[in-house]
Amino acid sequence: MLTNDQLAQWDRENFFHPSTHLAQHARGETPSRIITGGSGVHIEDRDGTKLLDAFAGLYCVNVGYGRTEISEAIAAQAKELAYYHAYVGHGTEASITLAKMILDRAPKNMSKVYFGLGGSDANETNIKLVWYYNNILGRPEKKKIISRWRGYHGSGLMTGSLTGLELFHKKFDLPLANVLHTEAPFYFRRADLGMSEADFVAHCAAELGSLIEREGAETIAAFIGEPVLGTGGIVPPPKGYWDAIGPILKKHDILMIADEVVTGFGRLGTMFGSDHYGIEADIITIAKGLTSAYAPLSGSIVSGKVWKVLEQGTDEFGAIGHGWTYSAHPIGAAAGVANLKLIDDLGLVENAGMVGAYLKAGLASALGHHPNVGEIRGEGMLAAVEFVEDKESRSFFDPAKKVGPQVSAALLRRGVIARAMPQGDILGFAPPLCLTQAEADEIVAKTADAVKEVF
Ligand code: PLP
Repeated sequence: MLTNDQLAQWDRENFFHPSTHLAQHARGETPSRIITGGSGVHIEDRDGTKLLDAFAGLYCVNVGYGRTEISEAIAAQAKELAYYHAYVGHGTEASITLAKMILDRAPKNMSKVYFGLGGSDANETNIKLVWYYNNILGRPEKKKIISRWRGYHGSGLMTGSLTGLELFHKKFDLPLANVLHTEAPFYFRRADLGMSEADFVAHCAAELGSLIEREGAETIAAFIGEPVLGTGGIVPPPKGYWDAIGPILKKHDILMIADEVVTGFGRLGTMFGSDHYGIEADIITIAKGLTSAYAPLSGSIVSGKVWKVLEQGTDEFGAIGHGWTYSAHPIGAAAGVANLKLIDDLGLVENAGMVGAYLKAGLASALGHHPNVGEIRGEGMLAAVEFVEDKESRSFFDPAKKVGPQVSAALLRRGVIARAMPQGDILGFAPPLCLTQAEADEIVAKTADAVKEVF
């Protein structure tokens, strides 16, 4: 068996890791963590260290680790037929069944599922579909896409452009043309406006309205948003936000893409975030929770309204020029079928709502009065603690102090993984949906202890 030192050396010499400080890692200044197993909400590394993963990987292992129902379904599919493509009408029992299972759970206006591999490629598909849609409808100038600052929609060329985080643009020549960003619905961070929550919602709606007016509605194809901002800081929208946005999009005939890569399949305590907030989407992006990340699979769920135009397009111009070798990969599809069944059988959507609320309440009671905790927020099984330098004036720490990363490191030393979110001193929690109250208590107690160490 290879030693850990040998693997760490090979890792530094050969492995280009995503979202990593490449130079520090190559120089051996950051550790290699080699994960070997997982069960429930815990993972284990090669040194035998067991950690409570309060971020479910990258908010994706929704059913928890080590579920044999899914690994056996994957093994059975791999033995029967590991691969066949889905072009020109091909499918497998798993991919056809999964498309039906998704639509049985999706909002009623949804009509078909296109399968991809991850959230980024699903959103790339969505933008292509939106452009195709407007070309078929004879309005080729209606192409711009609006997303929000702090939105996260992937890191491809178009999706990295839609992502409203500086790190994903800087030195990559992004955003591309045709992408517009509008105000993030992040009430806590806009204290400078001195507004009530209701006035802030009206402000966000007005900002969107004036952007549309400035650019011309005839040039704007779609608006994309996560029901709850995820990587941008785990920020539930202020009350009434989606109710204010929806009518503006409708009025200007702008399609709504709900990016439910994080919120789909139960994370908010409802099957979809669109159900939770009454969002009327034309396209829904799904990934992560679709297979609980046991195999890579994503989807673009398109509404009947969009589907009708896609059909019209292929009648006029022939087969749709979009597809990937691995679309609807049988192993991913088998994982998805087993995963969605497990979510139902274990009652995980309900559990996410109940234990998520319990976790948020626990964090609020342990840390709400701390002078450096500015806000504790969350929805369903998503929670965040945001740190401030001064509570009264709501001033934030110099990012160079890395307060958020320090707290997450202190928490890791106590055996709990939470994520220092990339923009701001924000500690994010997104545990597997099977989290128990006892495990939530452990997260709260250790977080409080870690905060005590850092401040
Ligand atoms: N959309 C949202 C809301 C996400 O959170 C993510 C990833 O975190 C993506 C899209 C991109 O998904 P992927 O990393 O699978 O490409």
